[in-house]
Amino acid sequence: MRSFAIQDDFPHRLVDSLRESWRILGPVAGRDGVCRLARIENWQELSPAAIPLIPPKKVLLPPGDPLWTLADNSYSPSPPPEPVALLGIPACDLYGVAYLDLVFAEDPLYCRRRENLLLVGAPCTPGPECFCPPRLEPPPFDLFLDNGRIWTGSPAGEGILAAWAQELGDPGKMPLPETVLGGEGVRPPENLERTFLDSIHNPLWRQVGERCVSCGACSAVCPTCYCYDVVDEALPGEGVTRIREWDNCFFRNHALVAGGHNFRPTRAERLRFRFEHKLLGFGALRGVSSCVGCGRCGRACPVDIDISDVLARLVSEGAP
Ligand code: SF4
Ligand code: SF4
Repeated sequence: MRSFAIQDDFPHRLVDSLRESWRILGPVAGRDGVCRLARIENWQELSPAAIPLIPPKKVLLPPGDPLWTLADNSYSPSPPPEPVALLGIPACDLYGVAYLDLVFAEDPLYCRRRENLLLVGAPCTPGPECFCPPRLEPPPFDLFLDNGRIWTGSPAGEGILAAWAQELGDPGKMPLPETVLGGEGVRPPENLERTFLDSIHNPLWRQVGERCVSCGACSAVCPTCYCYDVVDEALPGEGVTRIREWDNCFFRNHALVAGGHNFRPTRAERLRFRFEHKLLGFGALRGVSSCVGCGRCGRACPVDIDISDVLARLVSEGAP
């Protein structure tokens, strides 16, 4: 990883040059106070250190994603993805993309979008709900910008900076800003998997589940929640389109199967399922937690259910 000192106006010139090849999106706070990944034309439009309500998954896995269309006996796959550059992305969302990369490593549509995605990171200002865990490795990014400095993290990033090689001069060895490698976070205990298995009768799940209204907001805003359903939409005269659309493990019919059996009919069971998936990720299979500690779920929950509070209680109470 190489880094270079940059002049104050460099970010603006970078955006100007990227605009020629990429659609550029970044966190922008709207008049309604909500920060979204929105199209930008210049660097000043970015809201500094802001975390968008809906993370980069909305670019890689759009909520209603046409996979193919069959019309007049003719099959059309989804159109090639347009190149997108995401600017000003905080470290938690970069780690979120790393997790989605593992899950969708063999999904052709995801992989095409990922190949056409340029990630430009920026430092964040952790809020009260953030609990990003400490990291040993930096997240994936192509470029990372902080005050007066730019880092390259991929051949694509190196290629972009090659155009400014003369201006940038010799690279330095400055480390990335401290917050990129996580904060204090809630470090799950070594035996969390056993703790979860033993907690099935812990009243914690029923008590927190009784507060949950199954709105699904926590999953919708989570950078690593990716449950989806596949539906076929048939319109008169327009053939059939197969669409991948967001699903949500908090919805009652999420685990409903043929014959009417529901694997998780109660809110307590759905709550425990989500927390297990977030904190253990692929668990024994891959050993990767899928919670990046962004705190979005706690901010979005209308009844103040916070994953770090639940984890703390689970660890202190364990099996009843
Ligand atoms: S579970 Fe909550 S804190 Fe963890 S990554 Fe998802 S939204 Fe962020
Ligand atoms: S946001 Fe809160 S109330 Fe809504 S499903 Fe998630 S935990 Fe339940």
